[in-house]
Amino acid sequence: MQFDVVTIGGGFSGLVSACRATALGLKAAVLEARTEERYPCSSRWSTGVAHVMSLPILSEPDRLYRAIMDGSGANARPALVRALADNAKRTIEWLEQEGAQFGSQAMQRERPGARVLAPNRGSVAGLDWEDRGPDLLMRRLEQNLTRRGSVLMRGIKVERLVVEGGACTGVEAVRNGEHIRIDAKAVVIGDGGFAANREMIAQYITPRSDRVLCRVGPGAMGDGMRMAEAAGAAIGGLGEFYGHVHHRNAMTDAKLWPYPHLDSASEVGLLVGPDGKRFTDEGLGAVCMANAIARLPDPLSAVLIIDDAIWQTEPSISTTVPANPIMVESGGALVSAPDIATLAARMGLPAAQLEATARDYNHAVERGDADPHAAVSRRTAVRRRDPDHGRRRDRPARPGAKTRRQRFSRPLCGRSRRGTGRRPPRRLCRRRLESLHSRLPRRRAHGR
Ligand SMILES: Cc1cc2nc3c(=O)[nH]c(=O)nc-3n(C[C@H](O)[C@H](O)[C@H](O)COP(=O)(O)OP(=O)(O)OC[C@H]3O[C@@H](n4cnc5c(N)ncnc54)[C@H](O)[C@@H]3O)c2cc1C
Repeated sequence: MQFDVVTIGGGFSGLVSACRATALGLKAAVLEARTEERYPCSSRWSTGVAHVMSLPILSEPDRLYRAIMDGSGANARPALVRALADNAKRTIEWLEQEGAQFGSQAMQRERPGARVLAPNRGSVAGLDWEDRGPDLLMRRLEQNLTRRGSVLMRGIKVERLVVEGGACTGVEAVRNGEHIRIDAKAVVIGDGGFAANREMIAQYITPRSDRVLCRVGPGAMGDGMRMAEAAGAAIGGLGEFYGHVHHRNAMTDAKLWPYPHLDSASEVGLLVGPDGKRFTDEGLGAVCMANAIARLPDPLSAVLIIDDAIWQTEPSISTTVPANPIMVESGGALVSAPDIATLAARMGLPAAQLEATARDYNHAVERGDADPHAAVSRRTAVRRRDPDHGRRRDRPARPGAKTRRQRFSRPLCGRSRRGTGRRPPRRLCRRRLESLHSRLPRRRAHGR
């Protein structure tokens, strides 16, 4: 078999590359290891939010460029970043020409330049991908590909890049147990990365890879990276990842991932380790928190502490699937107590330390001190410079939302009230909740 372009993997990376090559008159083949008609992968499961470093994709190119460069440090190649930033708008236009539909999810309405594939996923726990925007777009891209004379081949697992005379000239793969070779002038690796491979997570992210959740499609086993390395590629920029903060029960309960997650609540709560001490600056956002949690000796030992005010406003700050009440309805345990000492006892945390943590935090907020956990990483500094992340820290993301600059209630105030944001809670939590407390693992992931 001979093609101009082959792509390893049939997610958005592979499909888009092949469609684009085909539209330019080349003959392309997408090689997909899975055999199902609607094979599971991150692309199909995704929420469909088109963003660049969490900025709306239609933001000014210079802003996108700066965000990527600031967030990626020495790992980014300026020319590539420039190309990405300058072509973001064109990418959306091209996708629309290919049949992508972008709909009016809350985020798209609230943030100028945001685009979310339609129809949007429902506000429900667990996976919700069938006939949602990303699923429809994948099917549409496959149709476009075949209509133009190229092909998506299922059940072909690529094992090796063929390198001849210093150039990659094709791939070796397995189909129905048989080894085959496919020649190509260009090979695109779009295998989804290694986030489903616990050995590689242990190698590059955390030795406790059994204590983090893989929030990713099942095929992302790192084949592409291993193949590239075997062909002589240098591997770099590993160690930090995109992730979310999830309830620890998501480790064993599929209803609790990919939604609801606890990103919004954790950004305005206190994240402590088993010693009752904070270990990161929560205001830096969920991605930084997920990385900090992963670096703990035991990622599952992290505990999120929130007060009633946070919990009651959570539906207004969590845009896609509010944890209140969906997390609890779906089996995510919430431990509550009238004061911090009782809460600590119920969770097996050191009470005196936990009280001191909340006290220090409140004092720091009252005095307007810089957060002592602020300068933990390069990204920390970067995010502080970014006006959007600054917004997160200094004023509520949504009306009624608590921010890092607000004092954590002490003693925890328990007057139940409705979320004050635009979107009301689906069900008013009538229980008097004076302090709330969730254990959470963090998980590796793409996605929102
Ligand atoms: C729940 C969830 C929500 C998300 N939401 C968003 C979002 O809103 N916005 C956003 O920007 N991102 C989001 N993401 C991330 C985004 O979906 C992924 O970054 C993106 O889809 C990756 O696309 P991909 O084509 O590189 O990989 P994938 O979609 O993972 O596809 C890779 C394909 O390669 C195949 N493959 C792997 N190895 C081989 C091999 N050796 N041979 C042949 N085939 C192989 C796999 O089977 C798979 O089908 C989300 C992710 C998840 C899991």
